[in-house]
Amino acid sequence: MTSVHIIGAGLAGLSAALFLQEQGLRPRLYDANSRPGGRCGGWSPAPGAPRRDRGTHLLLSGNDTVCGLIRRYGRAEDWIRLPPRFRFRDLAEGTDWNLYPGAGRWPGWLLDPTRRVAGLGLTGHLRALLTLETSRADTVGAALDLRSVAGRRLIGPLTVALLNTPAEIASLPLLRRTLRDSLYRGGQALSPLLCRTSLEQDLITPLTEALSAAGVEIRLRSAVSELQQTPEGLRLSGPAGPVFCGRDPVILAIDPAQAHRLLPDLLPDLPQSPILNLHYPMPDRGPEILAELTGLCGGAAEWILRRPGHCAVTISAPRADLLADPDLPGTVWREIRQVYPDLPLRCPADARLLTERRATLLQTPDTDRLRPQTRPTVSGWPETLWLAGDWVQTGLPCTLEGAARSGRMAALAVIRHLRP
Ligand SMILES: Cc1cc2nc3c(=O)[nH]c(=O)nc-3n(C[C@H](O)[C@H](O)[C@H](O)COP(=O)(O)OP(=O)(O)OC[C@H]3O[C@@H](n4cnc5c(N)ncnc54)[C@H](O)[C@@H]3O)c2cc1C
Repeated sequence: MTSVHIIGAGLAGLSAALFLQEQGLRPRLYDANSRPGGRCGGWSPAPGAPRRDRGTHLLLSGNDTVCGLIRRYGRAEDWIRLPPRFRFRDLAEGTDWNLYPGAGRWPGWLLDPTRRVAGLGLTGHLRALLTLETSRADTVGAALDLRSVAGRRLIGPLTVALLNTPAEIASLPLLRRTLRDSLYRGGQALSPLLCRTSLEQDLITPLTEALSAAGVEIRLRSAVSELQQTPEGLRLSGPAGPVFCGRDPVILAIDPAQAHRLLPDLLPDLPQSPILNLHYPMPDRGPEILAELTGLCGGAAEWILRRPGHCAVTISAPRADLLADPDLPGTVWREIRQVYPDLPLRCPADARLLTERRATLLQTPDTDRLRPQTRPTVSGWPETLWLAGDWVQTGLPCTLEGAARSGRMAALAVIRHLRP
């Protein structure tokens, strides 16, 4: 049976391996880390403490590929499904509202002032969304005034949340595609799905268990340091010695910086964008609140996820002044208290700031154009090599869904190559 070598056991590599294994092929994974999962990996606040998500990962019910993996290999009871109602607060003006799309595609919910952005009437919403659909500009900032109410309260926050890129420079075509895949599908595609424990435990573990049960080998602590083309096929260099792949297909499913380091002449060095996550231990607020999500604008924080015993804040594409703020946990705590005034005045001493410097691509029009296809057309590209990873051109931004879809696309391409 043909082996398929997959370098990288993040969500993209795991998704490719599962699909290949379902099709009767024999995938074999290599990962540099001591655990699979890549950016879905967790962290431990203290030795022996339960591992948590490094960042709050928001999955939506319309993320079809990831939801398909959970249905097939995971435990649905490990996921909390919230209604598609997004509570928002403008921190600068102290205004609250809900964004609460109706179940289907018909945007009738926009007629209801309690379900749409405060201070932006029906026509304001329609005008903003229509501008995004019809504008010939290539960035969101060039299409729409980001200082307007629509810009500050709707399009700016949506862009940063979906693309992890400042709206001024974010790719408009990519945002448009993402909105068609999410907001415009209505509430049935927009329910937030939150893992109960951690992404590592509730998503990555069931996928790796399914692979192990099928006899698929995952070699951890196996960084591939060189990928060479030889007349006999690809040769991978790793800590346990070289692997000669011969005619066997190889899927490179690692992050863009590492991929460029391995193949500097064939893959571009793509700019990346950070995400900051702040974690605050909380006095338990009782079992009736499984999870509460609040979107923010006009301050530093973007999303607060409150759970019993824990509060996590996400800041996507942080501004330079926030990266330089020596007391960011304290600054953000004051914003959290605007939403939860019952919390103590003093920021918890054990608050933690985690910085992911390379969380996703910086998703500008230039980056979007440079993203390689599953099988790049660049001259000199090895005949038996395919790409996966959230940064590969899937039509989606760098997300869990993009990563899972890229793995499936690479697996399908390999199958077409082997069984023309
Ligand atoms: C803080 C944060 C918050 C996020 N929030 C969200 C969110 O809310 N919603 C959402 O959908 N997405 C979110 N994302 C994005 C999401 O996590 C990623 O898109 C997804 O996990 C990428 O998966 P991947 O498999 O493409 O890459 P990775 O997870 O980076 O996997 C690559 C793997 O390759 C391995 N590797 C690297 N180099 C080598 C080598 N030389 N040899 C062998 N192995 C190697 C790495 O160890 C890693 O396991 C977030 C990301 C971060 C960091």
